[in-house]
Amino acid sequence: MLLPEPIQDLINALSRLPGIGPKTASRLTFFLLRAPEDLSRDLAEALSNLKSGTNYCQSCFNITTSGRVECEICSDATRNRGQVCVVEEPLDVLALERTGGFTGRYHVLHGALSPIEGIGPEDLKIRELIARLRSGEIQEVILATNPSREGDYTAAYLRQQLEPLGVRVTRLAHGLPVGGDLEYADQITLLRALAGRQEMS
Ligand SMILES: [Zn+2]
Repeated sequence: MLLPEPIQDLINALSRLPGIGPKTASRLTFFLLRAPEDLSRDLAEALSNLKSGTNYCQSCFNITTSGRVECEICSDATRNRGQVCVVEEPLDVLALERTGGFTGRYHVLHGALSPIEGIGPEDLKIRELIARLRSGEIQEVILATNPSREGDYTAAYLRQQLEPLGVRVTRLAHGLPVGGDLEYADQITLLRALAGRQEMS
């Protein structure tokens, strides 16, 4: 082995991250080797707290601080409990919150349906969403899955599942970049999509 094991170990671990190939992993590893020690220490500490310090909200499945049962949005009494915005990922919650235009609550699916990738309804937080609707306080579900093939497919599936429960089901208006991710949409586009949401038919 040409490289000492600790170096090779870090290169291997970094290479497993999305978008980072062996070259970038090596570059980052040698950067850390030369950088002041506190950078490696801060990084190691942040990494080890990442999982232990966070938790999923038991109501909407957004990420929250560990020890909390519900996230800050769900436990905020001023939020409209009758409206739930369904998104694919926690980062989508962040994007919608940044617009300041939504006062309801969220439900995070943790992905989108994809027959090609073998992701079915049981892999997402769909059963949990239906259970929330059965509680009876939700009047409108806004489907804010990504404007992509999987996102549209997921929205169509959810509409089919949710409408028999007697709730209003709307979908974010078009105008969002097709194939794009919600989290990258600018605030004005998102606000417009939210305001122009339509009944699904
Ligand atoms: Zn929550």
